[in-house]
Amino acid sequence: MQFFDVVVVGAGPAGGHCARLLAKLGYLVLLVEQHEDFQNNNFSSAASPLETLQNYNLPESVVSRYWQNIEIISTNIYRSWQAKQPLGVVFDFAKLRAFLAQDVANNGGIVWLGCRYLKYGNEDGKITVYLHKKGGEPFTIQTKLLVDATGYSRTVIYPNKKDKPNFLKGIGIEYLIQVDEELYQKYSDSLIFFLGYKWSPQGYSWIFPMENNQLKVGTAILEGKHKFIQKNKPIKEYIYQIIQDYIKLEHYQIIDIHGSILEYSPKLNDIYYKNQIIAIGDTVSTVNFLGGEGIRYAMKSAEVACRYIEDYLQNNHQDFKSYEAELKQYFSQRWNWSEQISRKVYLEYSDARIDQGVSYLKYLSLDDIIDILFHYTFEKYTKGLKGFFIQKIKLFGKKLFKNIHLS
Ligand SMILES: Cc1cc2nc3c(=O)[nH]c(=O)nc-3n(C[C@H](O)[C@H](O)[C@H](O)COP(=O)(O)OP(=O)(O)OC[C@H]3O[C@@H](n4cnc5c(N)ncnc54)[C@H](O)[C@@H]3O)c2cc1C
Repeated sequence: MQFFDVVVVGAGPAGGHCARLLAKLGYLVLLVEQHEDFQNNNFSSAASPLETLQNYNLPESVVSRYWQNIEIISTNIYRSWQAKQPLGVVFDFAKLRAFLAQDVANNGGIVWLGCRYLKYGNEDGKITVYLHKKGGEPFTIQTKLLVDATGYSRTVIYPNKKDKPNFLKGIGIEYLIQVDEELYQKYSDSLIFFLGYKWSPQGYSWIFPMENNQLKVGTAILEGKHKFIQKNKPIKEYIYQIIQDYIKLEHYQIIDIHGSILEYSPKLNDIYYKNQIIAIGDTVSTVNFLGGEGIRYAMKSAEVACRYIEDYLQNNHQDFKSYEAELKQYFSQRWNWSEQISRKVYLEYSDARIDQGVSYLKYLSLDDIIDILFHYTFEKYTKGLKGFFIQKIKLFGKKLFKNIHLS
């Protein structure tokens, strides 16, 4: 039977990055992924700030397009911010994960694509892992440590689906469309976000640029009962609406349709470890539930986990409690805020309130907007509210002065 130091299940950003770091450290690591090809589950819109490239040592070859402008659009309000140089990237999600897996192999690790994890057993302090390669018989391997990087499905840490608690659930669908050069130029440098009942009740929609005159148009909906909306249309109807009424495209080629689920544990109540199993990435709700941004945070959790995994392998001492504490310390405050705001904006606010919220944003600079959208520092938003009230007071003063002057 083959024996590994670490088996990582799931070759998303979390699993790929974790296996890559462990392989670089010289451990015998196996990365298994159920899909045979990364194009098969190419579900993520994959926008990220520029710093992600440097922070996680990623090459430009995994970037599909750089962006430098932000637009936020609600039912009746439009706001935009421009920069002179790139502020972020839209990854080619398939290329990103293929790069991470290749880097595992380049550093002496082993990668099995098209290999599904089935279950584990625990004998004499070693873990037996049951796997199944497509077209073959189930087989077993052994490892000292098992990493659950299976994303929202949390397959390893919850062997029985029925034991899973309730999660906050979001569903996102995205169309990759081909447009002509002239139209593409209009969208090629911007991330466009849509809020409000017209474009995306109970969630948000987006247009992101990709290379080769392609655009990603998507909608994400938060599951749950809305305070005002009785019934939503099917998600794809909102995507068609953006393509037809906003982009004003009648004829276009659909290159791909993909989507996936996000399941987020309220108050970060996930299981982070269990015996010789440690969970990373979306499995421990590293995705930000307000914006659905999760790639760099999945990789962040992999980096933190690797330190504890190394300690475990070196000293055979298991302090994954500190791993949980460190991740919670990093995420809790901003993620709890994001969770509360997402519930309010996506499930409670009227359309007029969303319009009003977007209108306040005009008092914010591009840096403020980036801080809110990508660093989740919501204090900046109060600056927008302050600007709004100062403006109101000034207007009131002007009116008063005019009336006194006239009388
Ligand atoms: C529609 C949509 C749009 C998004 N847009 C963005 C965005 O613009 N920017 C951003 O940063 N984030 C975005 N995200 C979130 C981001 O994609 C995720 O947070 C990120 O992919 C999480 O990485 P992960 O490695 O934890 O999990 P995943 O990427 O989900 O990877 C888990 C892997 O485990 C594999 N797996 C599962 N079960 C098994 C098994 N039994 N055996 C073997 N393999 C298994 C899966 O096939 C998968 O490849 C988006 C998500 C969605 C759904």
